[in-house]
Amino acid sequence: MDFAWSEADREFETELCGFLDSALPAFRAQWAEVSLHDGPNADGLNVDGLNVDGLNVDGLARGVMGAMEKRRAWQRRLQADRWAAILWPEAWGGRAATVSQHVIYTQTMARYRTPGIFNANGIVQIGPAIIEWGTDEQRARWLPGILEATDHWCQLFSEPHAGSDLAALRTTAILNETGDAYVLNGVKTWISSAQIAQWGMGLMRTDPTAIARGRQHDGITMFVIDMRTPGITISPIREITGEELFCEVVFDNVVVPVGDRLGDENAGWIVSMGALGKERVGSAGQAISMANDLQRLLLTAREVNPGALEDPFIRDRVARLHMQIEFTQGLIARALAKVLGGDQGWPEVPLSKLQWGEIALALAELALDVLGPEALLLKGVSGAIDDGLWARNYVWQRYTTIGAGPTEVQKNIIADRALRLER
Ligand SMILES: Cc1cc2nc3c(=O)[nH]c(=O)nc-3n(C[C@H](O)[C@H](O)[C@H](O)COP(=O)(O)OP(=O)(O)OC[C@H]3O[C@@H](n4cnc5c(N)ncnc54)[C@H](O)[C@@H]3O)c2cc1C
Repeated sequence: MDFAWSEADREFETELCGFLDSALPAFRAQWAEVSLHDGPNADGLNVDGLNVDGLNVDGLARGVMGAMEKRRAWQRRLQADRWAAILWPEAWGGRAATVSQHVIYTQTMARYRTPGIFNANGIVQIGPAIIEWGTDEQRARWLPGILEATDHWCQLFSEPHAGSDLAALRTTAILNETGDAYVLNGVKTWISSAQIAQWGMGLMRTDPTAIARGRQHDGITMFVIDMRTPGITISPIREITGEELFCEVVFDNVVVPVGDRLGDENAGWIVSMGALGKERVGSAGQAISMANDLQRLLLTAREVNPGALEDPFIRDRVARLHMQIEFTQGLIARALAKVLGGDQGWPEVPLSKLQWGEIALALAELALDVLGPEALLLKGVSGAIDDGLWARNYVWQRYTTIGAGPTEVQKNIIADRALRLER
């Protein structure tokens, strides 16, 4: 691995740290009353690897609106100094950051444990897709609302029978007879935060014959959809955590103007690939977040159950996790060195994703063993440690083996492309 930050990268990091040193303490003091885990990827444990706009919508009773207002305020504070959307071009309020600056950014934000932003999907995936594929009119219409945290956005990709195999999607968008609008019918599922989104970016099937012809990647088109359009029914799904992060979204003859199509008809697969690729680059801060989480666990254990840390088996697990996290940081650096050298960042990228899933689960399980039975108590129950954070994390972290590409699919990629195993 031949790798070093450039002078420009170092200056970028210094400027970012200077900003955070001055802005973050004041922001934290102002928002101190909003709980650490009023949203899964607020300041708490490392749970935002997907750049999911995680939110805790438990009947709105657990302060989600407070958390969302906090996120809105933090995004606006960042953007006041052009730190919200660093990948966007300068003309649209960004910094046109390089890949290495993006890695520095995600790692630095993780190190400082910054709050979550109002709409990570909008900033990281949807905004760049609009910049790349939208018309000038569409950019002017949608980008300011994303950047200024005015509108919340969701991503409408997965369907009940199209997840890992996304190109199998069947929600149709058929041009009407007058040719001025598409009519949408079908079901999307696992759509994060759809219940509070004003807009959704969604992949729809404009050529229903493509699947039968064995060309399922063709005949897909990307749309921007006003989530308040008649015919859209949004039903939150209750998760194992007791929260309602995701929704099912049903389209029943929903009319979407032709002008809200993003890119050409039947070009949606290419548009979506850019968005999904950006989701993966964003995971570079994960190793730092996991290291933070391990440190936080050890500090809590010293307070509530110090005897557990004398147990040789526990010590062994802590040491293994520490080494796995260090190893993952090495993998990320190696992937970056390859990308900067003009190569593909794999197999390191799928390997890092595998590592992240495994470490997050191991850490969640270790927490319950180290902290003792009280760690199982949920938020609001008397005696719960960190107000139920570890109990929630234990069930929530299952998502790391599914989101941003399930574990089995990553293994397939590694078997195919790195090990070149026969099928
Ligand atoms: C936290 C979170 C947030 C999400 N937010 C959104 C969102 O905002 N918008 C959205 O559109 N989607 C969202 N999703 C959905 C996500 O994209 C899908 O869950 C993911 O693509 C997997 O699809 P699936 O759930 O249908 O599982 P499936 O693809 O059905 O997989 C089920 C199981 O089969 C295995 N499997 C599948 N294919 C293969 C294969 N070829 N070989 C071996 N094993 C295989 C998988 O590894 C998995 O274990 C979110 C998911 C999570 C966890």
